[in-house]
Amino acid sequence: LVERMRSFGTTIFAEMTSLAVRTGAINLGQGFPDQGGPDGMLERAVEAIRAGENQYPPGPGVPELRRAVAEQRRDRYGLAYDPDGEVLVTVGATEAIAAAILALAGPGDEVVVFEPYYDSYAAMIALAGAVRRPVTLRPEGGRFAFDPDELRAAITPRTRLVLVNSPHNPVGTVFTRAELESIAEVCRDHDLTAVTDEVYEYLTFDGVEHVPLASLEGMRERTVAISSAGKTFSATGWKVGWITAPAAHVRAVQTVKQFLTYTSSAPYQRAVAHALTEELPWVEGLRTSLQAKRDRLVAGLEAAGFTVHRPQGTYFVQADIRPLGFADGLELARALPEKAGVVAVPTQVFYDHAEAGAPFLRFAFCKRDPVIDEAVDRLAALR
Ligand code: PMP
Ligand code: GLN
Repeated sequence: LVERMRSFGTTIFAEMTSLAVRTGAINLGQGFPDQGGPDGMLERAVEAIRAGENQYPPGPGVPELRRAVAEQRRDRYGLAYDPDGEVLVTVGATEAIAAAILALAGPGDEVVVFEPYYDSYAAMIALAGAVRRPVTLRPEGGRFAFDPDELRAAITPRTRLVLVNSPHNPVGTVFTRAELESIAEVCRDHDLTAVTDEVYEYLTFDGVEHVPLASLEGMRERTVAISSAGKTFSATGWKVGWITAPAAHVRAVQTVKQFLTYTSSAPYQRAVAHALTEELPWVEGLRTSLQAKRDRLVAGLEAAGFTVHRPQGTYFVQADIRPLGFADGLELARALPEKAGVVAVPTQVFYDHAEAGAPFLRFAFCKRDPVIDEAVDRLAALR
């Protein structure tokens, strides 16, 4: 393994899921739902396979899906993108993140990330030979937020990109317009490109709405926005994602993407095009159901003795382990299957400043109610 990738080992999601499989513990670690997506979407995939759509689709993506993505950005956010040239279909958001970073950051360039950050950001920045500059999100009144002065201080003459994930995995913050405005200001002032990971764009709660950074003044022209079908349609195994960006950015990302995978799975692209067009009412039901699951898990974890940060979006809650007498989340996560028969993800692995994340475990609530109930019953044994 090349030197710059040596520190990455196995992802925490694979480690924790195999721990759950090995021990038979309830897996509230890796974020994937245990119920399926909309029937109409599933049917479309089967139909597309049967209809023989099983050969390479066009490199930028099936035209129908590119049109559906452009319409979604227009109808939901008022953002206009040309489906021919400003939309690129990828193999999940993961490939979009990889291709965007590899296309836009080179050796020695600096990339600002908000920590804790999704694990693939750090790996892809390293693969690009670039350097990450973390800005820490800290819990404040129950919500994790950043200090705009710290953001400004993280910018240097070598900064090229700012990576923004909202709704945020793993802390569940949905950035406010004011927070996004402080990011936009930094991007405009220093002529930076923003890469936005919006995979949880529909999964927000309590009336909080996701605002795309590209919709702020002067940002459409400098933002590469990423989303995917996995979370929106409960189909994380399908791996259909996309970017929307100005044509020059799309060309840059596509130059890299074509040599990573060339194209992504044809029948699933068809099915996702259908879902983006026809299944948004189903997604509204998912959002309502997830909000109730969030509340169920928060109440259960509080009863078990954790201090819990109620997220504004995503699949995840942050539970502070200190009230139960623990201090190191990684150590506790590794012992949790044996202690309580439950698997969680230690938040500290997503930080450069691991000490800031050490007291937190991330628990996923995208699970059937009886699974959540059983998990919190088991966790009550930690007291
Ligand atoms: N970004 C974030 C913040 C995620 O949580 C995930 C996956 N859960 C991804 C990207 C990857 O998305 P995909 O499965 O579409 O590759
Ligand atoms: N995004 C999912 C999570 O945060 C996991 C995806 C993965 O396994 N890479 O749990």
